[in-house]
Amino acid sequence: MAGFKRQALDDEDRRRRAIALGELAAEGIGVFCWCNRCGHNATLGIERLVQELGPAFPVPELGARLRCSGCGSKDVATRPGWPAVGPVARHGPGAG
Ligand SMILES: [Zn+2]
Repeated sequence: MAGFKRQALDDEDRRRRAIALGELAAEGIGVFCWCNRCGHNATLGIERLVQELGPAFPVPELGARLRCSGCGSKDVATRPGWPAVGPVARHGPGAG
């Protein structure tokens, strides 16, 4: 039974193909980065990343290239900075 479950997870991984920088650039979306060590996070501008790494570069592999500007750790996770799932939405002045 455990084998069955593992196979299902493999299928899910295969379906979830990595998104490339060029796809984010087309949407005007940046890359959200999160340091697994200290929790420092930032959103990188997509245009500069495409210029440096090319539009076909997979977003999940960016983490291996980044270093946390807070603590210097290389344990940095990345994902598309979709507005809906990004860092807590901006609160307008006086909204809170
Ligand atoms: Zn850090």
